[in-house]
Amino acid sequence: MEITTLGTSSMVPTANRNHSATLLSYKNEKILIDCGEGTQRQFRKARISPVKITKILITHWHGDHVLGLPGLMLTLGHSDYKKTLDIYGPKGTKKFMSYIYKFFDTRSKIDYKVHEIENGMFFENNEFKLEAAELDHGEACLAYSFIEKDKRKIDKKYLEKHKIKANPKLKLLQEGKNIIYKDKKILASKATFVVPGKKITFIPDTGICKNTIKIAKNSDLLFCESTFLTELQEKARETHHLTVKDATNIAKKSKSKRLVLTHFSQRYNDLKVFEKEAKQHFKNTEIAEDLKKFKL
Ligand SMILES: [Zn+2]
Ligand SMILES: [Zn+2]
Repeated sequence: MEITTLGTSSMVPTANRNHSATLLSYKNEKILIDCGEGTQRQFRKARISPVKITKILITHWHGDHVLGLPGLMLTLGHSDYKKTLDIYGPKGTKKFMSYIYKFFDTRSKIDYKVHEIENGMFFENNEFKLEAAELDHGEACLAYSFIEKDKRKIDKKYLEKHKIKANPKLKLLQEGKNIIYKDKKILASKATFVVPGKKITFIPDTGICKNTIKIAKNSDLLFCESTFLTELQEKARETHHLTVKDATNIAKKSKSKRLVLTHFSQRYNDLKVFEKEAKQHFKNTEIAEDLKKFKL
């Protein structure tokens, strides 16, 4: 699993920071969270083809999170995009997506499906599920979690020790079922072990709100907006944004393992101050940079 922060600025981009976009790569899935202006070029710089995108999760329709969508849809429409693109977002996403095709001449359209979602789980397959939580940003805005499912694996040493050879019944063991092998009962609890799935949470623009802690609960990796240093707390409250300290509070209260700060105001050039301040409250903090990769 790999997460690439394609854009880490807030409302106004800087020479080093593009508008919001993050890409989560997991096996054949490429899930794009937000698509700020310039995201397509960030894809090129990261040497990832946008044609590989499988899902887009839109957090909210403020320009700094979506202005790259018309261009991306234009590119996909002119490329060999054969899949149906699933686009998830808050209430209003269907209307905004229809505006894109009304206002811009994108010519060829790809197949896409828009899903307007609220709190809770909205996607599940054998390997992972996706959850959303409504935030407090003055307009419909969602946080997202990617939750990988636990995997049961066969303990090869146990098989060797008990002289169990490869046979079709091993598949049942892997499903957690006990089997009979050469008249002996083999317990799944002894012959297998569980690898816990990883959880990654993305908290975009928001004021203080309980749902941030709820959705981030026990995340292995938590991406959280941190538009301002704590000294600008009043400004953060006025504009429904978070400070460094707010983000570290969410990480602590949700018992997340790693925190990555992102969505920085243009007023900050050197982000070392963010790191320094954050580490006083939550040691395991990292700073997102454009095109930086986070592995799990
Ligand atoms: Zn924003
Ligand atoms: Zn916003």
